[in-house]
Amino acid sequence: MNLSTAQLDRACGVLLATAAGDALGAPYEFEPPRGPDLEVAMVGGGSFGWNPGEWTDDTSMALAIAEVAATGADLRDEPAQTAIVTRWYEWSLTATDVGNQTRSVLGATGRAGVSAANALAASRMLHERTGHTAGNGSLMRTAPVALAYLDDEDALVDAARTISELTHFDPDAAEACVLWCLAIRHAVLTGDLDVRAGLERLTDARRELWVERLDVAEASVPSSFRRNGWVVEALQAAWSAITTTPVPADDPTAGVFAADHLRLALDAAVRSGNDTDTVAAIAGGLLGARWGASAVPGTWRRLLNGWPGLKARGLVSLATRIVGADRPFDNYVVPMTPSPHPHDDGVWLGDLATLQALPEDVGAVVSLCRVNDRDLPPGVEQIDIRLIDVVGANAHLDFVLLDTVRLLEALRAEGRTVLLHCVAAHSRTPAVAALYGARRAGLSGRDALAAVCEVLPDAYPNWDFRDALDRLAP
Ligand SMILES: [Mg+2]
Repeated sequence: MNLSTAQLDRACGVLLATAAGDALGAPYEFEPPRGPDLEVAMVGGGSFGWNPGEWTDDTSMALAIAEVAATGADLRDEPAQTAIVTRWYEWSLTATDVGNQTRSVLGATGRAGVSAANALAASRMLHERTGHTAGNGSLMRTAPVALAYLDDEDALVDAARTISELTHFDPDAAEACVLWCLAIRHAVLTGDLDVRAGLERLTDARRELWVERLDVAEASVPSSFRRNGWVVEALQAAWSAITTTPVPADDPTAGVFAADHLRLALDAAVRSGNDTDTVAAIAGGLLGARWGASAVPGTWRRLLNGWPGLKARGLVSLATRIVGADRPFDNYVVPMTPSPHPHDDGVWLGDLATLQALPEDVGAVVSLCRVNDRDLPPGVEQIDIRLIDVVGANAHLDFVLLDTVRLLEALRAEGRTVLLHCVAAHSRTPAVAALYGARRAGLSGRDALAAVCEVLPDAYPNWDFRDALDRLAP
C-alpha cells in the first residue's frame, strides 16, 4: 500500500504515542484519579520503579506483535502467532509487571510448550474455569495489528480478534480490539477520529451494547471509569479522554496548536487514575494514528525507552517496516564547515557530514533529516525530528518548528552543546535556527533568519518555512 506523507506520519505515530502514553502513565499506576493541581510528567518511578520515559508491559507486548508484523508475516497464520507468543514468553521471564491473566496464560503455555495453540488452549481454559478473562491486557497491545492491515479491513478484523484471544478469551476483549484497531486504521488513512468506524463489524446485539458504552464514554469524564482494569472501562476511559479533551484552535503567536490535542488527551487519560499507563497507552494508539509521529513532543520522544532495548527511533523504524515504507535512502552532500549559531555559540549549525566530525564539545545532536543508523555518532544523544523540506508536506509545521525549538531550549538549559543539522543546512536548519534565535534574542523571525543567513551563506528556507516564521515570530 502506498501511503501519502501524512498517512505515513500517522502510521508512525501509532507505536510512538502508545509508548508515550504508557511511559507518561507509568509513574501513577494504581493511584486515585489525579486532580488538575497535580503534575503529570514522564518522570519514571511508580510501583515498579520505572526509569523516566520507560514504557511498561503495554508497549513491550505490542512491540512483540510489531516485530513479527514487520517481517511481513500474516498475523492470522499460526507460525506468526507462535512467534508472537514466544516473544511474549521471553519478555515475561524478566518483566516485573506481567498482568495476572497474561501471567496465568503464559505460565501454562510455558509448561505445555510455547506455541500459539497452547496459549489459545490455556486462554480458553482460563475463561471456562473463571468466566473472568476480560482484563484490558489484549486491548493495550493491539495497536500494531492495525498497522499490519491498513489495506485489508476483513483481515484486520480476523487478526485483531485472534491475537486478543491468545490470552483473553472473553468476547468483550476481542470486540474491543476489533473496534480500536478499525478506529486506528480509519485515523491513519483519513486523519479522522471515529471510534464507531468498526461498529458494523459486530452482531446486532453486540453493536447495540457497544453503542451504549461509547455513548456513556462520551458523556463522562475519564475518571468515571474506576474499573479500568476491565477492557470495557479501559476503552471507555481512553475514548472519554480523547473525546472530552477539546482540540485547541491554532494560535501560533501563543504557541498553541491543534496538534497539542495528542499531548492534552494523554494527560487526561493518565489523570483517570488506577490503570493509568494502560488507559494512556490505549488512547495513545488512536491519538498517534490521528495526529501522527510529528505531534509527539520532542521532550517525550527523547526520553522514551524500554524492552527490548529500543528508543523512539526504533519505534518509528518498526512502524515504517510494518507498513512497507522502509525504503533505503542516501544523502550526498558537499561537506560544509559547521558554524556556531549567531545568537548562541552553544548551538552548532551543520550538515549531514558534520556527524562524522562533530565539534568536540557537542553533547547532543538534533537531526532535522533522516539519518542512517551507521551515520550516528557513537556515544552522543541524538534526536530525530520529523520535518520535511517540501512545501505543504508537514501536517503540523508550526507545531513541529516550535516544538523543536523548545527541545533545543531544554537541551541548552541542561548545559548541553547541541549540533542542529539537516542534509545540507539549506532550508530546515536555518528555519529552526531562525526561530530559536528569534525567541532567544527577541527578534522577528525574518530578522533572526537574516542573521542566520550571514553564517550560512547557502541558506534559503522554503516558502512554507518562511511563512511559518512570520506566523510564529511576527
Ligand atoms: Mg503497564
